[in-house]
Amino acid sequence: MSRSAHPAGPRHADVLPEGHYSAPPADLNALDPKVWAQTVDRDEEGVVTVGGISVTQLAEEYGTPAYVLDEADFRARARAWRTAFGTDADVFYAGKAFLSRAVVRWLDEEGLNLDVCSGGELATALSAGMPADRIAFHGNNKSPQEIERAVRAGVGRIVLDSFQEIVRVAHIAQSLGKRQRVQIRITVGVEAHTHEFIATAHEDQKFGIPLAGGQAAEAVRRALQLDGLEVIGIHSHIGSQIFDMSGFEVAAHRVVGLLKDIRDEHGVELPEIDLGGGLGIAYTSDDDPREPHEIAKALTEIVTRECEGAKLRTPRISVEPGRAIVGPTAFTLYEVGTVKPLEGLRTYVSVDGGMSDNIRTALYDAEYTVALVSRTSDAEPMLTRVVGKHCESGDIVVKDAFLPGDLAPGDLIAVPATGAYCRSMASNYNHALRPPVVAVREGEARVVVRRETEEDLLRLDVG
Ligand SMILES: *Cc1c(COP(=O)(O)O)cnc(C)c1O
Repeated sequence: MSRSAHPAGPRHADVLPEGHYSAPPADLNALDPKVWAQTVDRDEEGVVTVGGISVTQLAEEYGTPAYVLDEADFRARARAWRTAFGTDADVFYAGKAFLSRAVVRWLDEEGLNLDVCSGGELATALSAGMPADRIAFHGNNKSPQEIERAVRAGVGRIVLDSFQEIVRVAHIAQSLGKRQRVQIRITVGVEAHTHEFIATAHEDQKFGIPLAGGQAAEAVRRALQLDGLEVIGIHSHIGSQIFDMSGFEVAAHRVVGLLKDIRDEHGVELPEIDLGGGLGIAYTSDDDPREPHEIAKALTEIVTRECEGAKLRTPRISVEPGRAIVGPTAFTLYEVGTVKPLEGLRTYVSVDGGMSDNIRTALYDAEYTVALVSRTSDAEPMLTRVVGKHCESGDIVVKDAFLPGDLAPGDLIAVPATGAYCRSMASNYNHALRPPVVAVREGEARVVVRRETEEDLLRLDVG
């Protein structure tokens, strides 16, 4: 592959177009440990390694694009959450962030529980041997078949999301001669995203039963009367990519308020409270996520204080981090294709994937960083936009990024923090073949989800 420099692209000294970026980083070769998986490093030649394996070797063996997952990091993060919450609380990994059978086994081994929200996720969890009583089943529109399967399997809890579902689950459980443990998901009128939370008017969404107007209390009233259900607690999930704990503070206050009302009305102290997931990670160096032990301490204190105030026994707490566990543990490895400088604007760097393997930029305006990983470079930084190969101008992976000015076709670049909501949201747009997930650990790599093939695509097309 030629490394010859393309015509000089716009440099940072030029007038820069509007965008969400600051000055180029002092050292483009540096890898901020905040955004890269734990074992990521550069070897003496400047090639990036993970788990002791170079990205050039990974690209050669498994092709690009590929998601490369640092197993040691995944396990360490899972363990950190488990340890932080101790034995008086439960950590449910949110499978929707990324789920595969290998991940299920790691979770099982590290003592975490698992959230699923579809029949497919449930099937994956069960087929990897996760004990059913450590699985929670979520979703705003579980089908009767999914509910029956979950009840038959003996899942530890089903999180009820509507009045209709209360009746549906009770009926199915009863017809199977079972009493299903359930939580009731409520909306507390708090929505949190990154650094802000809004404490009003966010019941206008499809999930949960509003606390407002006594609806949640009515849901509990009905559920308590049904023989097929054992109501074990209240569930609240307030948002995603949250850094600020004040949203949880308000949510916990309101959930405990409901627990108190339930105690006063029914003489029942529900034993569990689930505060959901949504804890933020660093996608760029500007993000400062909290450590699991800080989060555990804060949440435990909030719930304990609120319960003391309400003279309630402190319920068992559970949390559901997805992104915060898997997000930072993987990066997407791409090969650079066309490099197109647009005079006075920026250089478009095309990679061999795009919105089919990372929809978050297009969907949420998500921010990512990117680095040249197959070598180091002393070239001047150039402002780039990393784009995919799809027929769609919104097919952007990294909107604003500085890469070395000598970047050329054949170079490998990597986008860190793509462990969550990338493979799990991947599509076959343009009949793209979804990339593999390669797990690395202590000098060994193995495919945990293989790359799709054209045969896979054609198998579904019955002609
Ligand atoms: C999505 C979701 C989570 C996980 O969110 P993260 O941002 O990945 O931590 C947890 N609980 C529920 C109910 C969810 O819908």
